[in-house]
Amino acid sequence: MSNYHPLSEAQAIEYARSIPDLFQAGSELASREIGDGNLNLVFHITEPATGKSIILKQALPYAKVVGESWPLTLDRARIESEALQIEEALCPDLVPHVYAYESDLALTVMEDLSDHVIMRRGLIERNQYPLFAEHIGRFLAHTLFFTSDLGKNQQEKKVQLGRFINPELCKITEDLIFDDPYRDAETNSIEPHIRDAAEKIWKDHELHLEVAILRNKFLTSAQALLHGDLHTGSIFIKPDSTKVIDPEFAYYGPMGFDIGAVLANLLLNFAAQEGWSPDPESRTAYRNYLLQTVKDVWTHFERNFRALWNEHGVDRVFQTPGYQDHFMASLLQDTFGFTGAKMVRRIYGLAHVADIDKIEDAAARERAQRMALAIGTTLIRFNRQAKSIDELIELAIKES
Ligand code: ADP
Ligand code: MG
Ligand code: MG
Ligand code: MG
Repeated sequence: MSNYHPLSEAQAIEYARSIPDLFQAGSELASREIGDGNLNLVFHITEPATGKSIILKQALPYAKVVGESWPLTLDRARIESEALQIEEALCPDLVPHVYAYESDLALTVMEDLSDHVIMRRGLIERNQYPLFAEHIGRFLAHTLFFTSDLGKNQQEKKVQLGRFINPELCKITEDLIFDDPYRDAETNSIEPHIRDAAEKIWKDHELHLEVAILRNKFLTSAQALLHGDLHTGSIFIKPDSTKVIDPEFAYYGPMGFDIGAVLANLLLNFAAQEGWSPDPESRTAYRNYLLQTVKDVWTHFERNFRALWNEHGVDRVFQTPGYQDHFMASLLQDTFGFTGAKMVRRIYGLAHVADIDKIEDAAARERAQRMALAIGTTLIRFNRQAKSIDELIELAIKES
């Protein structure tokens, strides 16, 4: 901690040189800071002579939020690098390789994924990724199953849980997802044209009850090691490859929160399509692709998860006939609820999504915002009645 200082581009190069067996001694290196600078620095280091490259991600000791900065623990860099390594052990093809972690500098050295694109950008460009659902369904199944009491020795799980308490980053989620959007909080960022929709949500007591139940699950249900921030900006993609990055929010929480994050971000793009599709026909086609992907993500997740359970379940009692079906039914309901909560906060909470905010036509943007709120609130209201993933698709269509 005491040796911590944010690196300059020149210092990033110097650090990269000190990593054994990576670059040629004395060769020229170039560095570019490519992060958005709010929470972390991200340096892209290249060796032009060989074409080799790496990423250095360094946590900053504060976050810049609404013009102010608030202190934020550097320990999240440890959490991120440890979570990446656990994920890599479980699904080696679906995360960047971590070469090194340096605790004094809160620095992770990892594989450069610049040949991929951030999925949010890819969806805004209306690309299709036919392998995505299989990849992310497998990522979710393996990471959630093998860190839970279903697939991990339960004493070891408790020890691992202790390494991922992450109170400061959890607090961000607790506030920004499960509190602030449901009241007139200062942190909200509300475009005036949808203020009426926000005010309606602030008075919706039926909705507040469901959010309280979801919030309690986020706070207390230590089911599995979550990624914790699994939106489409944390996914690098190209047609034949999917890579999950940025697990600094990792902690032991309810499985449905990670699954819901993926589905919510697909549905936010669904709601945004009026702003991105040039004509109604291609809009319908792309929306159908997104809905099919939502369904496929759940289906792949469930198939993989049940297969892992049947083959690698560690707990005799959890093999009791009927228990697996009970568990999956309840997980599906959580997924509906967390999907909805993740959608609502992105419309007028603290941090929005480019899929919607970057729609230039204000009327089209407003329709996208209202559609996302309608789908999100409907999923929250309905969550404890959900019985199949098809209902989620039907509700999205009905509210669109
Ligand atoms: P933050 O936690 O600040 O959001 P991210 O880990 O999401 O940081 O990284 C921010 C940006 O840096 C990404 O959107 C991407 O453009 C770039 N980046 C991060 N990791 C890599 C990587 N392994 N390879 C290439 N670019 C990366
Ligand atoms: Mg960022
Ligand atoms: Mg990020
Ligand atoms: Mg992050």
